[in-house]
Amino acid sequence: MTMATETTTPPRKRLFVTLMGVTCLIVVAVIFLAWWIPNRGLANINSNLPHIVGIIMVVLSGAAILGTGLLVLTTALGKDIFLTRFMRLVVIKFLLPVIEFVGRMFGLDKDRIRQSFIAMNNSLVTSQRMKIKPDRILVLLPHCIQLSDCEIKVTGDIHKCVQCGRCSIKGLVDIGKKYSIDISVATGGTLARKVIVEKRPKLVLAVACERDLTSGIKDCYPLPVIGILNERPFGPCFNTVVDVSKIDEALRQVLQVDGQQP
Ligand code: SF4
Repeated sequence: MTMATETTTPPRKRLFVTLMGVTCLIVVAVIFLAWWIPNRGLANINSNLPHIVGIIMVVLSGAAILGTGLLVLTTALGKDIFLTRFMRLVVIKFLLPVIEFVGRMFGLDKDRIRQSFIAMNNSLVTSQRMKIKPDRILVLLPHCIQLSDCEIKVTGDIHKCVQCGRCSIKGLVDIGKKYSIDISVATGGTLARKVIVEKRPKLVLAVACERDLTSGIKDCYPLPVIGILNERPFGPCFNTVVDVSKIDEALRQVLQVDGQQP
């Protein structure tokens, strides 16, 4: 089942959706209190003022509720219903810090919240149903995906890999050849940014841990980023692994095939 055709909300996304609902309720409660508490003071200035401010607060509350509903619908249906690009901006720039704060209040693990954010972001990106030429897609990998005792240096050129199969690089080289996609290995955020500036992709498919993917998605906005989490059987930043089939699946959703309109 592909993300674009999902009709149910998987567990990772569900957490973000739940936190969004809680945040929306808190925002509406704060808006109500911000109107109710100074209400009497406003009446002293002008008897109509409480009603005017009340209407503004109702409009703001309505916008918060409608926005949350729209986000839930977009990700649940996997379709660009309305203003998906704008909603991605709201989620990345404004909602994430608030949701991280709300999640912390409920004692939720930071990485679980980040996982749900990444799933929500991916859903919003794929719901736009973009079709991009292979040469405008960049796959960005962390260098810890390469086996630590491999003597070949694939940073800079992944094709130097002799494909012995002892780490995920082999499968990734195969994917790169299969779709004629550019794949880069970056040793850190600065190098990753440099590669993006040089290659000017229209979409980045990034593999990393929760923390790096979250900051990468934020830093790259408005450039769409699909995040794929790496697996860390030996702990962080050492001989990490990626499920190549997930990359293949994500690429198939955004790749423009010959004769297809972008
Ligand atoms: S597949 Fe083999 S040659 Fe290629 S990077 Fe991994 S360990 Fe090195």
